[in-house]
Amino acid sequence: MGIPHFLVIPFPTQGHLNPSMQFSHALAKHGCNVTFISTEFNHKRVMMKAASSDQENLLGSKIKLASLPDGLDPEDERGDLQKLLLSIKKTMPSRLPKLIDEINALDDISKISCIVVTVNMGWALEIGSRLGIKGALLWPASATSLSLCDSIHSFIDGGVIDSEYGLPIKSQKIHLSPSMPLMDPKDLPWISLGRIFFEHLVQEMQTCKLAQWWLCNAVHELEPAAFSSSSRLSPIGGPMLASSDYNPTTFWEEDRTCLHWLDQQPSQSVIYVSFGSWSVLDPNQFTELALGLDLLDMPFLWVVKPGNEQYNAYPQEFKGTKGKIVGWAPQKKVLKHPAIACFISHCGWNSTLEGLYGGVPFLCLPIRNDQFVNKFFICEVWKVGLGLDKQENGVISGDEIKKKVELVRGSEDIKAMSLKCKEIVMENMEKEGGHYVRNLNNFIKWTKE
Ligand code: UDP
Repeated sequence: MGIPHFLVIPFPTQGHLNPSMQFSHALAKHGCNVTFISTEFNHKRVMMKAASSDQENLLGSKIKLASLPDGLDPEDERGDLQKLLLSIKKTMPSRLPKLIDEINALDDISKISCIVVTVNMGWALEIGSRLGIKGALLWPASATSLSLCDSIHSFIDGGVIDSEYGLPIKSQKIHLSPSMPLMDPKDLPWISLGRIFFEHLVQEMQTCKLAQWWLCNAVHELEPAAFSSSSRLSPIGGPMLASSDYNPTTFWEEDRTCLHWLDQQPSQSVIYVSFGSWSVLDPNQFTELALGLDLLDMPFLWVVKPGNEQYNAYPQEFKGTKGKIVGWAPQKKVLKHPAIACFISHCGWNSTLEGLYGGVPFLCLPIRNDQFVNKFFICEVWKVGLGLDKQENGVISGDEIKKKVELVRGSEDIKAMSLKCKEIVMENMEKEGGHYVRNLNNFIKWTKE
């Protein structure tokens, strides 16, 4: 067999696209060919950006882009993930075999040797297995979340959660394995999904068993218990973080002026605030956050994505004089900038990993899904941040935000733990022949067998 050729099929949200593109870069760096599948809707955006971009000629690289329709109309709202998921599952499966045939018919590239999907795209593993193509799962969240999702059936059988919604039946804390920290069942990653998504997840975890490899964008030393829970789980977070930052699949244009602005701020003085790509703060929470940032006598860099103006109304008294607000930041670079003091985050997994890599202390404001598990690890296991307490009305006050930012900044223990975690991540990235590079090499070797 010649050069391995990977068909990478991510679920089309930013939190899946980013690690999939990083993984594609890591594969390309190891000499493999990659065809990266976007939805037609996203592909058009990418092509528009690529045409005006002088960063890199994508088509000249080993990563080719291709697309399939997601089944929605161009004007449909794609922030409704349930609708997007159901439409994809209805539309894409019948079209993938033809696309594979077309790619395999090309003379200048080897035939597809492995399909790599992120969760929700397990249907492509089924097609691959029918066509005799190997499959792998690229899990875009923590190894602990994967381990928890893989244990759904035992949680149901053990009477920990109900089988319809996955909600906790008892309030007692749970242990996945003796070495895993005790967890609150209300932090389980599917708690906010609702019935349809939970049913889908139960089914999806079964389908994902068709993948011989479960590749985790994670670091073994940070979640050792999860990795020892199943030999199928393989950490490859190091090579992914070390891979190119160039990502043509970002939905929004990065505002790079903030890097220049950061250069002008004193070391460890800036609060970075970002809630990822699809979470939107409740309007009252947005107001309190704005007021809290004003109360702090510190510069801040705040990502407020365009398109949510109805939720993101600044209070009249908001001054924001010390801050910079951008629509979309080059986050990985921002979190590595020496001016950053702490990260007010929704604790999405990519943001969590990028913050650990930057050695930046966290203030956690999880909103849904696995963000609660990540918060638990940030605050209770790695001890690199603090939670923010809600008032009775469910909103975190500006005063609480001010208080916790000051606490986190003044804590030598949290700073020391953040630097320790950064070292762990860096060491794993840099060690040639180490755990991670070896895993990636073994994975690539397996596709050639
Ligand atoms: N991100 C970015 N610029 C921003 C905000 C976010 O590049 O202004 C990136 C961030 O680096 C991360 C991804 O968007 O890679 C968000 O993924 P995450 O898993 O943290 O959250 P999600 O968007 O899935 O909720």
